[in-house]
Amino acid sequence: MNDANPTASASTASMWEYAPAPERTPLEIDDRYGLFINGEFRSPNSRRWFESLNPATGEVLSKVANANQQDVDDAVSAARQALPSWSRLSGQERAKYLFRIARRIQERARELSVLETMDGGKPIKESRDIDIPLAARHFFYHAGWADKLQWAFAGATPRPVGVCGQIIPWNFPLLMAAWKIAPALACGNTCVLKPAETTSLTALRLAEIFQEAGLPPGVVNIVTGAGKTGQLLAAHEDIDKLAFTGSTEVGKKIAEVAAVGDRRLTLELGGKSPHIIFADAALDQAVEGVVNGIWFNQGHVCCAGSRLLVEESIQDEMIRRLKHRLGSLRVGDPLDKNTDIGAINNPEQLDKIKGYVEAGQAEGAVLHEVTTQSLPKKGLWFRPCFLTGVQPSHVIARDEIFGPVLAMMTFRTPEEAIKRANNSPYGLAAGVWTDKGARIFEMAKRLQAGVIWCNTYNQFDAASPFGGVKESGFGREGGRHGLRAYVRI
Ligand code: NAP
Ligand code: MG
Repeated sequence: MNDANPTASASTASMWEYAPAPERTPLEIDDRYGLFINGEFRSPNSRRWFESLNPATGEVLSKVANANQQDVDDAVSAARQALPSWSRLSGQERAKYLFRIARRIQERARELSVLETMDGGKPIKESRDIDIPLAARHFFYHAGWADKLQWAFAGATPRPVGVCGQIIPWNFPLLMAAWKIAPALACGNTCVLKPAETTSLTALRLAEIFQEAGLPPGVVNIVTGAGKTGQLLAAHEDIDKLAFTGSTEVGKKIAEVAAVGDRRLTLELGGKSPHIIFADAALDQAVEGVVNGIWFNQGHVCCAGSRLLVEESIQDEMIRRLKHRLGSLRVGDPLDKNTDIGAINNPEQLDKIKGYVEAGQAEGAVLHEVTTQSLPKKGLWFRPCFLTGVQPSHVIARDEIFGPVLAMMTFRTPEEAIKRANNSPYGLAAGVWTDKGARIFEMAKRLQAGVIWCNTYNQFDAASPFGGVKESGFGREGGRHGLRAYVRI
């Protein structure tokens, strides 16, 4: 907090405290998990395991297998063997499996939510209300397509692509697994999935659900491990399609190794998405959109609205409102149902966020945070904050921080807003806030972003395609557009 700046003085302390409301669903976690290959859990050839931690407490939750070359080979070969019979199955039959998986996710939703929160650090109210229901929704939605593919691509005969390698990040572990696996299976492909190193546990529960659903062995295989395992999968020569969600940095490396033969590639990468707020916007609604856009899931969201562009005349009012709202956000135990902001997923990410906020201040930006609430002693925490006095050239206005840090800037004309918003190598999402319909359409047409939300933010549905432009990647996930990546026409 910069006390020299009057606008940055301490904000509202909570007027009253909530009683603790911990989620108490009992959860069994094995001491150790193997790899899921050919329908069964097995010890890795590597004979090596690594620890998966709870970032809110530092406790070890379990040990997870570290897949080596032989393990990845086994997984890819199981997927190859399973391919002919799975792809020949009628769409109706494939749909039955997907429906079963979706229903089982719903039945085990509470357990999956608690596990997601413990392994990744996100608040239980998010894993319970967003991640897990949306994961089920993706299986339901794609079950619906499985026997209707010929209508998705009118006049064409869609065929499966083949064996799909799929690599996912740690911010929405089960949801990203669902985004990848559900459309692949609906279209008759088989998969090898590599979850992120810090959040493998819900993907392994999903493997149990595949067993319960009677999914034929080899149709989905899950190889856990660190970046090296991802590299082995990306470079594997028997993969027909590679789908990667993660950082732009790793995405670029993957694009190099994956560009062989006629292998398909989709990349869902990072972002630095802008909110553009005009003076005529409904400000209360806009503030909620901004709060939801950047402080949701600790800012560990690829499409986080991390740049705030406000019309100059409402700058002071926005600062006042944001500070007020910051004061009511509760940071702490992710398993508490009242928690808004949970733990930062891993120590490297925490250091990265801290480094950016320091760099922003060193470049002259002013930090606004609320320090009246104490943080837990153990675990990885970062207070949500925003910075004012940010210039477009500042590092915090350019780089993806992937934390609860908002960089605020101003604009005077719509033209300047568009220029500033598009002044980024990324192009994942954008939010436009205004009362004028014509302006919404004009802005949406000219903003360089894969997804543009108007007078709302962070709305997701399995029926709606998601993906970026520029360095935020290519290809779409969700909706009819998302199916395209998983079929040959
Ligand atoms: P990351 O470091 O790029 O890792 C993503 C996945 O790739 C992880 O499973 C990782 O394994 C693996 N990996 C690491 N190095 C690899 C390599 N050389 N070859 C193959 N795989 C490799 O990203 P992250 O830190 O987990 O996630 C945050 C990033 O994901 C952010 O940039 C965010 O914007 C992006 N994201 C994008 C979207 C989207 O839809 N556009 C959605 C969510 C997240 P390890 O975990 O073992 O490192
Ligand atoms: Mg973990």
